[in-house]
Amino acid sequence: MTSQPSAARTVSVAIPVALDHSFHYLVPAELPIPTPGTRVVVPFGPRVLIGVVRPEPSEPSDLPEQAKLRELLELLDPIDQPALSADLVALCEWIADYYVAPIGEVYRLALPASAMGVDARRARLSAAGLALARSPELAGLDDHDHRLVLLLEREAKASGMAVATLTKARAGAPAIPSVLKRLASLAERGLVEVDAGEAERRQARTEPHYRRTDRLRGGSGDEEGLVRAVGRSKQRRGLLDYLELQPAGIWTPLAELRGPFTRARQLLGPLLEAGLVVEDQRLRELDPFALPPPADTSLAHALTRDQQRALAGLSAALEHRRFAASLLFGITGSGKTEVYLRLIAEARRTGGGAIVLVPEIALTPQLADRFRARFGDEVAVLHSGLTPQQRLDAGAHIRAGRRPIVIGARSAIFAPVPDLRVIVVDEEHDASFKQDDGVRYNARDVALVRARTLQAVVVLGSATPSLESWYGVREGRLGLWSLTTRPTPRPLPEVEIVNLKEHLPDAQTLLSARLRQRLVETLAAGEQAILFLNRRGYTTSLSCKACGSFQQCPDCSAPSMTYHLKRNRLMCHLCGHIEGAPKTCSSCGGAELEHGAAGTERIEVAIAATLPGVRVARLDRDTSRGKALLEVLDKFRAREADVLIGTQMLSKGHDFPGVTLVGVLRADQGLAFPDFRATERVFQLLTQVAGRAGRGDRPGRVVIQTWAPDHPAIRHARTHDFEGFAELELEARARRTTEGPGNPPIGYLALIRISGEDKPAVAARAAELGALARDLAARVIAGGETEIQVLGPVDSPIERINRRLRMQLLVRASARGGLRWLLRHLRRELGQRGRGRATTTARVDVDPYSLM
Ligand code: ADP
Ligand code: ZN
Repeated sequence: MTSQPSAARTVSVAIPVALDHSFHYLVPAELPIPTPGTRVVVPFGPRVLIGVVRPEPSEPSDLPEQAKLRELLELLDPIDQPALSADLVALCEWIADYYVAPIGEVYRLALPASAMGVDARRARLSAAGLALARSPELAGLDDHDHRLVLLLEREAKASGMAVATLTKARAGAPAIPSVLKRLASLAERGLVEVDAGEAERRQARTEPHYRRTDRLRGGSGDEEGLVRAVGRSKQRRGLLDYLELQPAGIWTPLAELRGPFTRARQLLGPLLEAGLVVEDQRLRELDPFALPPPADTSLAHALTRDQQRALAGLSAALEHRRFAASLLFGITGSGKTEVYLRLIAEARRTGGGAIVLVPEIALTPQLADRFRARFGDEVAVLHSGLTPQQRLDAGAHIRAGRRPIVIGARSAIFAPVPDLRVIVVDEEHDASFKQDDGVRYNARDVALVRARTLQAVVVLGSATPSLESWYGVREGRLGLWSLTTRPTPRPLPEVEIVNLKEHLPDAQTLLSARLRQRLVETLAAGEQAILFLNRRGYTTSLSCKACGSFQQCPDCSAPSMTYHLKRNRLMCHLCGHIEGAPKTCSSCGGAELEHGAAGTERIEVAIAATLPGVRVARLDRDTSRGKALLEVLDKFRAREADVLIGTQMLSKGHDFPGVTLVGVLRADQGLAFPDFRATERVFQLLTQVAGRAGRGDRPGRVVIQTWAPDHPAIRHARTHDFEGFAELELEARARRTTEGPGNPPIGYLALIRISGEDKPAVAARAAELGALARDLAARVIAGGETEIQVLGPVDSPIERINRRLRMQLLVRASARGGLRWLLRHLRRELGQRGRGRATTTARVDVDPYSLM
């Protein structure tokens, strides 16, 4: 470096590490200043990483001293085509600020997994390069180039050498200067080949597939052998379990395993060695959702008056290119999807793009089908089953404008759709839009922010809107369009409440005589039924008849572990711990173990036993992951099963024309949760489940069994009365104002969670943060405008998950501004602290959904 670098030649870079700051680099004189959103290669400690350039810090004090700065190594995107467009950069900055999230983690959310992180590119010599390296001629190479060529000749195998390692000094020799530039010029001369790491190998049409063998299957007797082979790794245990849940004979591709298990390859090693899993190179599976859609027949419909009004209102905003956010409130089957389709068609007419967010693609394949049927190849469906390569391809198509309509779950809100004009959030009340680890963002709220910067139209659709949205309508922040009737003459199902206090349920099936009778009638008429119980597994627990102690997960504080009959195991649903069911009590040795409350698995068995000849299927997280999920849904829709028993997965948007009876086995379950949203969730769940009845050409019937028939959530669900419920519940949330700022949506919340393995360290950190938060709160209160209260620290309702102790602080404020000010000042105290066992982590969850 000859001249003094000016501030203008530094850039702030978001790097994918958990540290919550931005890092500054000098831009070497030979490179142009990259625009925000450009990916750059930078040295980071001993590593070489790919990060993203951020906008200039607004506060100059954030600029570090120049002397310590290192130079960035390379720009990965063309200067006029940053990986992230300006609106996505702005969105990432907003998310990092609003959710108090580490900036690198936020940028990583917005890019395909492999686009940021370790520089994975590899270099090797071409045939010409090899020949040159072996000839005495230097062919115009300078000394450094020559060293580089010799290095590649000596050390690069067929798979090449990591470009990142080439930039380092090696034993006895200094680093080669400007390695990346040299590689580029050698590549231009055809002497060197650089590829994007694994990307090329992924092009291969085959990939490894895995299957569980029959050895050591089930049975607690094999437990020891299993432990020996699997070790203590829960991840490995979980992976084995995942394979075991696949239908017999199904091979699972590596790419699918990599979704839930990032380190699938390493995890599989010992399992393959022990013969528990076998591997085979097989043809790559097609994207299961990419099959050609059925023909679209619905275009011929004339819109109902409600639909027309909604569409006209939404289209007006679209036409004027104005930001407009509205709630589309309509019972299931009232034609909301039809409104989305037509609105997006309008946007397309003038070249605009759209994003449609849904809770979970796998649970609502029909919705994606309807979009594909209407818009064909213009639709990209993003879902968790895509391989990394398919994901990259989809991203490229979207960015190039070849797929202007994107449908996907939460993370699809970051899709790089050009000229984005419509964002739909379907089932906007669904809790899955909130990410509850890592960056704790809510895609519904992020959608509103993204649309505002783009002057786009947002439609939040639901039959049971979140109270946040309903309150937004009341406050005039959201428009409201209601669809009050179903376009087809299908009345809402009749809902019957069965008071379990008066009509005891059967101990095995949990059916009251009433529901049992309805079920028998329905099946006799050749129709289908859905039974809903929000508890999976066979029973909730095993406890000892003699001493009463529960068989407990060694690493969690949950009351007990769920028992699974088919595999005779106890499973902890919090951390994934699995163990063989004991024959005797682990505390006192008592020989008689008692089962707790029944779950879906037990109901499945009991119904099949009590109604011989009836075909029963089950849908929950245990039976239904990956392809197995589609199989269950298809089987039931094709009427190859008569009764479907399931958990809340059933409540989401499925359309089963043959279903005329929906039974809720225990509606009050969940009401006792220590969470202010418990009542709202139960109401939504009941109303959504009830909406599954009578969607075909026959009327439906819903039977709700409950121990608490007078609870408002249940009373209002019976009459399909969302508005009545919302008024009551909003009042309950505001009532807190007498003692504090009220719960959302009236007041504003942030949860600060402190966790770690060492109890004293966690408690000390929690106390320290609590004191700081109280100081800050006092300053906000002194300002006189905002009420703010700090609660805790207390142990979290779930005190321990996977050996980590958890404590929490809750901050509740009457205004958003005061809360944000407090969090901003708390920010630098967050993150990881301490060493070894005493390491504690503190993170904020803004607008939390889970207070557990
Ligand atoms: P929602 O999204 O509110 O559940 P849908 O848009 O899926 O409702 O509509 C329910 C059913 O009614 C679908 O089969 C759809 O094709 C049909 N439908 C929607 N709008 C009309 C209309 N205007 N006339 C007749 N049928 C309609
Ligand atoms: Zn556990």
